[in-house]
Amino acid sequence: MAQNSAEAYPPVERHPETGISVLVVGAGVGGLCAALECWRKGHKVRIVDRTSKPDTGGDFFSISPAATKAFRHWPEMNAKHLAAARQPYNANYLLTGEQTRKHMPFMVDTTDENGKAVTTVLTQYRHSRPKLHGILIEQLAAIGIEVEFNHKAIKYEETADKGIVRSEDGVILEGDVVIAADGLGTASYELVLGHKLRARSSGYAIYRTAFPAEVVTRDPQLSQHYRLLDIPKSTPIDIWLGPHIQVFTQLTEDIFSWSMVHKDDGKAQETWHSTSHTCEPADAIKHIEDAQGFCPEILKKTMLATPKDKLLDWKIMWRDSQPNWVSPQGRVIQLGDAAHTFVPSSGNGANQAMEDATSLASCLQLAGKDDIPLALRVHNLLRFERVSCTQITGFQAQINRNNVDINALTAKPDQVVGKWGRWIWAHDPEQYAYDNYEKAKAHLVSGAPFENTNIPAGYKFKPWNIDELLAIGDSGKQIVFEGDWS
Ligand SMILES: Cc1cc2nc3c(=O)[nH]c(=O)nc-3n(C[C@H](O)[C@H](O)[C@H](O)COP(=O)(O)OP(=O)(O)OC[C@H]3O[C@@H](n4cnc5c(N)ncnc54)[C@H](O)[C@@H]3O)c2cc1C
Repeated sequence: MAQNSAEAYPPVERHPETGISVLVVGAGVGGLCAALECWRKGHKVRIVDRTSKPDTGGDFFSISPAATKAFRHWPEMNAKHLAAARQPYNANYLLTGEQTRKHMPFMVDTTDENGKAVTTVLTQYRHSRPKLHGILIEQLAAIGIEVEFNHKAIKYEETADKGIVRSEDGVILEGDVVIAADGLGTASYELVLGHKLRARSSGYAIYRTAFPAEVVTRDPQLSQHYRLLDIPKSTPIDIWLGPHIQVFTQLTEDIFSWSMVHKDDGKAQETWHSTSHTCEPADAIKHIEDAQGFCPEILKKTMLATPKDKLLDWKIMWRDSQPNWVSPQGRVIQLGDAAHTFVPSSGNGANQAMEDATSLASCLQLAGKDDIPLALRVHNLLRFERVSCTQITGFQAQINRNNVDINALTAKPDQVVGKWGRWIWAHDPEQYAYDNYEKAKAHLVSGAPFENTNIPAGYKFKPWNIDELLAIGDSGKQIVFEGDWS
């Protein structure tokens, strides 16, 4: 493989070896980025996953420039990422049929390299999930790390100097550090908190599907509505808004996907990996018809075009924001969805998993092998409040979409779309760890004052929970906090 070949791309620069062995459990976007960044920072890496082969399921997610900042150190992977990513151009419709916004990117006010004020497109990397996973796995292989499949973690343990994982196949795995990046269903809570902490329904579920674009582009009526834009590397997204329902469609050159957030009626499940619970497009159409008496023709036809067994009804699960991600002896740490769940409307679960990966690898590097437990706690301190704030944005977007002032929509089309604030997209998790490690360490060791600056300016972090937010939503109000979240 021509990975990192000197002719095409400069090689990846690896920091001096630290002697720290890292075991990553879970090869989702968080675990894969953790493996890559830990290797780059000089640690020795092993990564395992419960599946038998790379996960090829899934639709699209939006990745922010903050999450991919570390890709600049991986020239070939970065080039593949940039080639695969699409810039979303969102249009808005009401479920009654009226279009309130044409396909447009989000704009942001910022400054150029000379410090001059400019208004420019907010870069969003819209990726097919399996394609991005493939790019990360190829890069790992190029540095000599293969994902070891068929290891399902069933128990996390630790000693004073090792993290230990018991796999269902009887194998015992260990590392100086174990990163539990095994998603929502992680078994790590029993060690980290001393008890199980099950995720519960967020009250919403989402129909999701992705299939070849030709299914719609060869259909005379659908191909009139779904067209690629005449803008290089763009992808058109339609967002349909109605009472407690949001429908999203997306077209790229080769893939079409649609999804629909709706109230959880108890039928939804949470896995891509089984066809036993697939559902029928008619179920989704019925949700819309029940809500407003009819379903717009174009949506009905789109949904009915879904190939057989390709539609899932996926429960959106939730755990209240959980401040401690580190095991008592500091040898196991949770990362990504294992540490913090997200509702899809935040557009941030993958982003925060990737930022975690960069931050954690840097903290371990700064601490060195003798200070691993402290490194994990510093990373946790640097990351928790930011992650918790990004979790809130998901509920804000969802509830504010439900309670939107329809009459004001045409005048202010941006008000219902979850646009990332500057504090989200402009962040650099690696630099933040380098700049703040010593201050955060002093806070943990001797109680010196420390305040995170990677959350909205002017917002004083407060604990919150899902019930409070849902109650605001049920009262018909919008969720608003002090500080600059824009
Ligand atoms: C509809 C939808 C849309 C979304 N859109 C966005 C978006 O636009 N932007 C965004 O940032 N996020 C988005 N997200 C969230 C994002 O997909 C997740 O937050 C992200 O995938 C979390 O990554 P992860 O690596 O932590 O976990 P996962 O992706 O869940 O990966 C976990 C890995 O661990 C493995 N595993 C599980 N259990 C075990 C075990 N016991 N032992 C070993 N391995 C195990 C799994 O096989 C998997 O490979 C969306 C989510 C949904 C549902």
